[in-house]
Amino acid sequence: MDKLLESHLDCSEVRALWQQFVVSTETSIRTLDAQTIYLHVITYLTVTPWYNILKDYLLVVFLHKFLKSSLYNVRAYGVIGYPRHIWRQTSRATVRWLLSSRLMRSTVEKEVGKARASIEHDLILNNDCLLDFPTLPEIGLREDHIIEELDILQDVLPHTDWEDGKVSGAVYHGGEDLIRLQSIAFEKYSVANQLHPDVFPAVRKMEAEVVSMTLNMFNAPMENGACGTTTSGGTESLLLACLSAKMYGLKHHGITEPEMIVPVTAHAGFNKAAYYFGIKMHHIPVDPKTYRVDVCKMERYINSNTVLLVGSVPNFPHGINDDVEGLGKLAEKYNLRLHIDCCLGSFVVAFMEKAGFQNVPVFDFRVPGVTSISCDTHKYGFAPKGSSIIMYRNEDLRMHQYFIEPNWVGGLYGSPTLAGSRPGALVVGCWATMVKFGENGYIESCRSIIEAARKLRRYIEEEIPALQIIGDPQFSVIAFTSKQIDVYELSDRLTKSGWHLNTLQNPPALHLAVTRPSVPAIDSLCQLLSSTVKDMLNDPNVKPSADGTSALYGVAGSVKTAGVADQLIVAFLDTLYKLAPGISSNSSNTAT
Ligand SMILES: *Cc1c(COP(=O)(O)O)cnc(C)c1O
Repeated sequence: MDKLLESHLDCSEVRALWQQFVVSTETSIRTLDAQTIYLHVITYLTVTPWYNILKDYLLVVFLHKFLKSSLYNVRAYGVIGYPRHIWRQTSRATVRWLLSSRLMRSTVEKEVGKARASIEHDLILNNDCLLDFPTLPEIGLREDHIIEELDILQDVLPHTDWEDGKVSGAVYHGGEDLIRLQSIAFEKYSVANQLHPDVFPAVRKMEAEVVSMTLNMFNAPMENGACGTTTSGGTESLLLACLSAKMYGLKHHGITEPEMIVPVTAHAGFNKAAYYFGIKMHHIPVDPKTYRVDVCKMERYINSNTVLLVGSVPNFPHGINDDVEGLGKLAEKYNLRLHIDCCLGSFVVAFMEKAGFQNVPVFDFRVPGVTSISCDTHKYGFAPKGSSIIMYRNEDLRMHQYFIEPNWVGGLYGSPTLAGSRPGALVVGCWATMVKFGENGYIESCRSIIEAARKLRRYIEEEIPALQIIGDPQFSVIAFTSKQIDVYELSDRLTKSGWHLNTLQNPPALHLAVTRPSVPAIDSLCQLLSSTVKDMLNDPNVKPSADGTSALYGVAGSVKTAGVADQLIVAFLDTLYKLAPGISSNSSNTAT
């Protein structure tokens, strides 16, 4: 062997060696003779030029990656499903490309232009009696003048009256007493910033208490280091849970290409996290009967890159809870992180048992596999908007959402959540709300909200056979679809009658998230639903309007127009920042 290492070999020797290598590889593979393999590895390394070794190495790495990911995909999607999946992806991409090609662009632009005009017409509201400020007023306004303008602004622009409770979700409480208390909290702490706990020690204390109270409601193991942080809302909580799982996977398991496995019914905030943090997302379909995520299917997508499993209690679209105990077992079996999204469920799911409801599934930290839970205090916690909690089973998990920078010229820097400076007044508003309600207050509101939701469900089941409830909703959201009528047209008609339900797709459906303001309005919704559905059934010529919700979802749902839906959403978002027609940002304002 020494001779081999030292010798310079010419071409014929190499060829001879290669033949010898082939022959003896076969033999050694057959006999698994370690010494022979070792010898040939050494030979290969000594006779092959470095660039060929590099080439071979890259080829092996590529093949390994390709085979591994193909194997994962075939296992996940199935032997027939995987080619179908690739076909679907490719055809979607092709349609997108075609639509953006010069050939189609003008047609698409004309269609999108029409829709854009209609969106702008609906959203950009103004009134001649309002002052316009495309630029700063040269001289500041008097305080009484501003307050008067705030009132006029609220009054003259047509809007949905949330006070009547005719909106799904959106305003979760809105009681006058509560608004007064929250305003006082704001006033007292409007300058507070959690970035400076030394300047605002009271805010630090209240924030710690808000997190602790919520952890206790979700049965977190405090003695084993359960912990959390406040965030600006449900989406930030989800982003942080995903970030923590990604960084935890990197640190503890060396995962550099993280993947997460998420039910299709989970909140879009997970898609946002995948987009922001470069996590590959697998969407798992729900069982067509129960509308809960198919745990067996989920298992097939688990591989060595998996950093997070997700379930919701309940999910946003249909108000259905996933099988948390099943998911927990899966997480434990594969030693994975499991996030349960209770953003919507928030204080309603937390108090279901104490409110005396039967058969409430176990979904919180009592399920051993659950590693994090998000809960929106600004939903059924009734805190001011901009408030949510992300909770973890232990401090190591939480630490991975922190941002730490010891070398910044501006000094040692650390920040627990996405924002740097944070509005302390919001945490104070949340704290004040939670201690005002107390356990009895939340139990009482849980009871009335769930009872109202169940009343709506029962009414639809018993009185409106043309509508079908989706799954077996246990909580505050009731979703329904229809085999007989176009639910989007139904939604448009309800909107004309003042009720704003949420529209859903795949399948087309509507839902109502029952809130405190909508509890007393449930009976009137039942009546309205019943009469509107009857009208639609009796009208043989009922056709969805060309620019209504139905048309919009027609665009979104069809593969042929996949790229168009994207453009409509962009148009909608652009519209949020447009001034009213005739007012441009360089015209002088009317206030001086
Ligand atoms: C509302 C909601 C969220 C978070 O939404 P935000 O608007 O960011 O508060 C997350 N998950 C579910 C199920 C939700 O309903």
